[in-house]
Amino acid sequence: MNTPPGHGLDDVVRLIRVHRAYGTEHNRVVALDDVSIGFRRGTFTAVMGPSGSGKSTLLQCAAGLDRPTSGSIILDGLELAGLSEKKLTRLRRERIGFVFQAFNLLPALTVADNVALPLRLAGRRPERGAVERVLERVGLADRAAHRPGELSGGQQQRVAIARALVTDPAVVFGDEPTGALDTRTALEVLRLLRETVLDAGQTAIVVTHDPVVASHADRVVFLADGRIVDELRGASAETVAERMTHLGAWAEQSDARYAGGAV
Ligand code: ADP
Ligand code: MG
Repeated sequence: MNTPPGHGLDDVVRLIRVHRAYGTEHNRVVALDDVSIGFRRGTFTAVMGPSGSGKSTLLQCAAGLDRPTSGSIILDGLELAGLSEKKLTRLRRERIGFVFQAFNLLPALTVADNVALPLRLAGRRPERGAVERVLERVGLADRAAHRPGELSGGQQQRVAIARALVTDPAVVFGDEPTGALDTRTALEVLRLLRETVLDAGQTAIVVTHDPVVASHADRVVFLADGRIVDELRGASAETVAERMTHLGAWAEQSDARYAGGAV
């Protein structure tokens, strides 16, 4: 791999000067504005920021689900811009796991079949015991034959986590994965995600609005108006909440400033 010196060799995901704009020249929304950031292998990062600050766009670009307008993204040693759709699809299927707020399970399939789906989509016959093992990791070995509708919200999200982990991805992305759960269940699911990912030497990048959830991350990255404006390491929930409050104020101020010209 041809990595320039000083460019985080330990980073499993790296964004370099990433821009993502939507709309036309007259109707432009800048979702990501010159974002450069690295995520080290074996770490858990929480991404926070006001609604519309670019969190989902950041994740989608980093995961190869969306292409930036300019800038580059290196995932697991590969420059995404240089990949064909076919190679990108394969990379997504094999090296990336994604967990969404809506669990996105298929109601007609059993838990085991839902978890096995990414392997089947990748054309891999599930290795014997692979699905059982990952269900074991999320504490749902005894639910393999159940349908998603027979499980609680927290259990369904654990199935979605098992499905994200079954291909043994390098990185697991979560876009508000605990957003539909009550606070206690959200924390349980988050702890489980953190433990399973880190035990396997994987990396997690998770968007959350919950300062308590974020305080369990190694690092919290704050976005406002498409830019990374701050980060905290090992912060308490109080510190994270405090930072978020000021971020809201900051974003509102800059919204007011922009509103004059844009509307
Ligand atoms: P967040 O996840 O932090 O709420 P998003 O990344 O979803 O923010 O959105 C960032 C900005 O980009 C917002 O202003 C949003 O309206 C805009 N945006 C996101 N996706 C699209 C799209 N497909 N088309 C047009 N604008 C979009
Ligand atoms: Mg979002």
